[in-house]
Amino acid sequence: MHNIKDKQLIKHFSYINGSWHSSETNIDVLNPATGELVASVSNAGVVETEMAVKAAKKALKAWSNKPANERAKLMRTWFDLMMANQDDLGRILTLEQGKPLAEAKGEIAYGAAFIEWFAEEGKRVYGDTIPAPANDKRIIVIKQPIGVVAAITPWNFPNAMIARKAAAALAAGCTFVVRPATQTPLSALAMAELAERAGIPAGVFNVVVGSDAKAMGKVLTEHPDVAKFTFTGSTAVGKALISQCASTVKKVSMELGGNAPFIVFDDADIDAAVRGALASKYRNAGQTCVCTNRIFVQQGVLTEFTEKFVKAVQTLSVGNGLSAGVTIGPMISVEAVTEVANLVEKSVQAGAKVVLGGQQGCDSTSANQNFYQPTVLTSVTNDMPIAQNEIFGPVSPIIAFEEEAQAISMANDTEFGLAAYFYARDIGRIWRVAEGLEYGMVGINEGIISNAAAPFGGVKQSGNGREGSKYGLDDYLEIKYLCMGGLDK
Ligand code: NAP
Repeated sequence: MHNIKDKQLIKHFSYINGSWHSSETNIDVLNPATGELVASVSNAGVVETEMAVKAAKKALKAWSNKPANERAKLMRTWFDLMMANQDDLGRILTLEQGKPLAEAKGEIAYGAAFIEWFAEEGKRVYGDTIPAPANDKRIIVIKQPIGVVAAITPWNFPNAMIARKAAAALAAGCTFVVRPATQTPLSALAMAELAERAGIPAGVFNVVVGSDAKAMGKVLTEHPDVAKFTFTGSTAVGKALISQCASTVKKVSMELGGNAPFIVFDDADIDAAVRGALASKYRNAGQTCVCTNRIFVQQGVLTEFTEKFVKAVQTLSVGNGLSAGVTIGPMISVEAVTEVANLVEKSVQAGAKVVLGGQQGCDSTSANQNFYQPTVLTSVTNDMPIAQNEIFGPVSPIIAFEEEAQAISMANDTEFGLAAYFYARDIGRIWRVAEGLEYGMVGINEGIISNAAAPFGGVKQSGNGREGSKYGLDDYLEIKYLCMGGLDK
């Protein structure tokens, strides 16, 4: 199938307790670029989800008791296998999700980097000793794995959103159950196949594929044996899942929606800003949580930036992600395209102008309506639907501003607070704006900011908790305070 060398990486069953489980019905995984069937996968449900939690609970003691360096060796082998199979994993990802092959292979390397990084960091789970208030006492702090971790992940990064969570969980000594998005289960199952080949013991990493998100989500958020629940997806679903977790007071991490501002000040390097905006906006056809959602440009450089940016967007090539030279693949579904088209239409009615794109479809000859042309809108205001909603598509709304304080205030005028970007040269301005933006991550003269060593996460309704970095490991650890008394003679 499509030049995949190792056919064993295409799996059709959920992976629970180290074995592959079939179910009575199937989910058809379709290629969003062509509508063709990629594979059929067994449709698991509540029973299999409960089995996976039970398996993770059973495996917990042995895995958490393993010295960190032994866990690290197994995880390192898992990383090595992912990189050795990067081409196949990338192809599987493009087939089920649509992003261009080069981007898909980039996602595999990005996901694998978390496994490599956390394998090392797991060896550095240090405790503390604290001076006690009395001579006969000692205060010691140790950190222990939180327990069984359950995760639900979205379709836009079918590998990396799982790797980011599983890497930290396994390194901390936790065991893991993930329910991937219904549209993209194959990348998750290929990760399970490689985890098994790496020698990760049965029950430590489980993948349950099923279309009944609500019922499976109920098990993962309410099961008393799950100690922590971690979710990446929309804010609306995240809110519902947080409240479900309340019944058993689980530790919760949420990576939710965004509405990233990208601010270009009049002292910016405009060519660099154009490159940054292009990368940050159009990656994955605009379907990432940290995608630029609103481009604010200071009046003095508005014409120059807009002209150069439109020229750069014109160079993007839309098509099947497996075709050479394609830089924008399909969107995940025709419904997603319709939502983007509606936002554009409503904003045009409110006064926005389409200066590029604005049409559905790959090209004039293609019948596939899963594509949306890279689009640039001008004369946009911050109250238009295209600025107030997460676009999740390849559309750039350009909003003009006069003063620095006005840009910060408009950028912060959203319930989201995930990523923000700005381009400027003045060092005073750089500090003022960086500190004034109410976001968990800020790219300063940078359009692509995520990596395994840095803390990824949002504030406000974009979520809580961090993934990646030493802070990301803390999310999978409990702090235990030991008070040792009776030490006087
Ligand atoms: P979504 O609708 O919230 O779906 C995400 C996951 O939740 C999928 O696996 C989905 O399953 C599942 N789900 C849906 N309803 C559920 C329910 N009632 N109970 C349990 N699980 C449920 O989000 P999406 O539209 O697929 O993904 C895009 C969103 O994710 C955007 O808002 C984006 O910003 C956000 N995101 C955030 C980050 C971050 O790190 N902050 C990263 C990537 C994406 P099905 O597949 O079966 O629907």
